[in-house]
Amino acid sequence: LFAGPVTFVKGVVAMAGLPPADRVEVCFAGRSNVGKSSLINALTGRKTLARASNTPGRTQEINYFALGESRYLVDLPGYGYAEAPVAVVAKWQALLKQYLAGRQTLRRAFVLVDSRHGIKAVDAEILKLLDRSAVTFQAVLTKVDKINRAEREAVIEQVKGALAKHPAAYPEIVVTSSEKGEGIETLRAIIATLE
Ligand code: GDP
Repeated sequence: LFAGPVTFVKGVVAMAGLPPADRVEVCFAGRSNVGKSSLINALTGRKTLARASNTPGRTQEINYFALGESRYLVDLPGYGYAEAPVAVVAKWQALLKQYLAGRQTLRRAFVLVDSRHGIKAVDAEILKLLDRSAVTFQAVLTKVDKINRAEREAVIEQVKGALAKHPAAYPEIVVTSSEKGEGIETLRAIIATLE
């Protein structure tokens, strides 16, 4: 689906370090432990690709992966770490704000939401930034294998309700399990067809 190999390009700590804006790109955001690395690995069919972005020191970087020749997948640092020093959080937020507002080739942000928790207060900051930057974002439920049918319906309703307040939200929610492979092909097709 993504023509060509999937490779790690670079970790970026400042706007000046971004690769040339010559490809369509999508970014992935979510609170720490939401299942972002697992999802990126499932999407790209590479078991260890996103592990680099979880190692200490890399966690505050914007990590670029090339999907073949024509697209970038951008892994934004996980948020909501209570232990992160205030200065680190401030620096990261400044970079994130500049990135979302200034990256012309960014076509969509995928905001990952744990199926067991739904959208929480910790997600408010990123949703506000996406609205302000007018970056279309789509919610992706993760770890759906951990909940039953009724819980699935309930969390979808909760997320739809929360998204209704956000002008930049794309109405369709993607339901995934990296463990079982559910929704992976759907998400891949969305990324592959964005122009
Ligand atoms: P990250 O911090 O957002 O990158 O999260 P990880 O991908 O490291 O996942 C956090 C934890 O959730 C790990 O223990 C994963 O094994 C687990 N996990 C991630 N995705 C799934 C999933 O689809 N199903 C289940 N059951 N567990 C998952």
